[in-house]
Amino acid sequence: MRKHIDSNDIIAFEAVSKIYGTGDVALESASFSIARGSFTCIVGPSGGGKSTALKIIAGLEEPSSGTVMKPDHVSMAFQSGALMPWLTAQGNAALPLEARGMEGDKAAREARKWLRMLGLRGLEGKLPRELSGGERQRVGIARALAVNPAVLLLDEPFAALDPKTTDELHKDIVGIWRETGKTVVMVSHSIEEAVALSTRVLLMKGHAVRKAFDIDLPHPHRAHALAFSREVAHIRKEFFK
Ligand code: ADP
Repeated sequence: MRKHIDSNDIIAFEAVSKIYGTGDVALESASFSIARGSFTCIVGPSGGGKSTALKIIAGLEEPSSGTVMKPDHVSMAFQSGALMPWLTAQGNAALPLEARGMEGDKAAREARKWLRMLGLRGLEGKLPRELSGGERQRVGIARALAVNPAVLLLDEPFAALDPKTTDELHKDIVGIWRETGKTVVMVSHSIEEAVALSTRVLLMKGHAVRKAFDIDLPHPHRAHALAFSREVAHIRKEFFK
């Protein structure tokens, strides 16, 4: 899939390939773009290159060839939350701010603000092992947002959570996207979830984006209520083609 870069695009991949040192091909001439302020979900079969695309946007991997346009200020929340086990929720959320040289009190204030926004008021002093899976994930997202990134990257953030917790977090993440106007790019293994949350779904297969679907539904939808929707059926057909 090729597309000319639009002035509203915040991210653009042009013929990007990524071959790891092991010889594994992750991306093969992948081209796609992501509009500023959009909520984009990347779906596709395992091994299709979704995480690699996200890592390149995050600056954690370099492409082997092709061109990537992306802002410098990007931050990523990982599947498990990836928290420091010896730091409290507040300590974890403040960590990237302190690493950037922000003074302790200010970093703590800022961290608390984002923890509250993620519904964690009262849990600031808890250690990761004292939190539920959903709460840990919320701390990971608060930490990613605390540095005020232009783009928030989410790598299957709900994969390990139960359906009720996932529903609640879906609502919150869409609320935060609306409130902050940030660009959100999320990898998901669920087509229903992608349709429920995003404004655009990119289908990644065989190491490139094969198709983009604009989703014109009010957000957020309950993901399970969309199982038999036209949008999901349409993407599923392409997914299994
Ligand atoms: P997806 O997220 O769609 O499952 P990935 O981007 O994780 O796809 O992986 C795409 C391909 O690249 C797979 O074949 C995978 O084994 C390979 N791969 C991913 N990360 C690495 C790595 N760090 N080293 C070597 N190969 C990798």
